[in-house]
Amino acid sequence: MDDFDDLIAANKDFAEHFDLGGFDGKAHAGIALVTCMDSRIDPLRMLGLEHGDAKIFRNPGGRVTPQALEALVLGVHLLNVQRILVVPHTRCAMASASEADLRVKVGKSAGVDASWQSFDVVTDQLDQLRQDVAKVRTHPLIGERAQVGGFLYDVDTGLLTQHA
Ligand SMILES: [Zn+2]
Repeated sequence: MDDFDDLIAANKDFAEHFDLGGFDGKAHAGIALVTCMDSRIDPLRMLGLEHGDAKIFRNPGGRVTPQALEALVLGVHLLNVQRILVVPHTRCAMASASEADLRVKVGKSAGVDASWQSFDVVTDQLDQLRQDVAKVRTHPLIGERAQVGGFLYDVDTGLLTQHA
């Protein structure tokens, strides 16, 4: 039961100095971001944003999945989102390993067969980014209602470059 003690202690300290109350759940800067779960990405800071400014959806690879589209539809219609960024990144495991590689690695770590686990790997990252951006732009509930851009984040320099 004490596996999370350090985090719960940190949270108590956080709550003592809590100054983020009173916010609604809207995107105050009108931004939504779909990006990777990678720990090298600091989504708010890399865009000069602050708490409350953006809706952020993360998954392995920063992919426009059905759940990402669900989040973006809610963002555009109910949460003040006007601009959407899709942001995969350099040196992403989902774009550098094959699904077979990942199954072998995870299987070794787990000590059991992982050949049934699917991993949504990407073979051509920029082509996939353009396709993912197109999914947002052509979505019947999003379309022209928001500006949509596709960017690659360089985890070694911190720079974004636009590709779609
Ligand atoms: Zn990644």
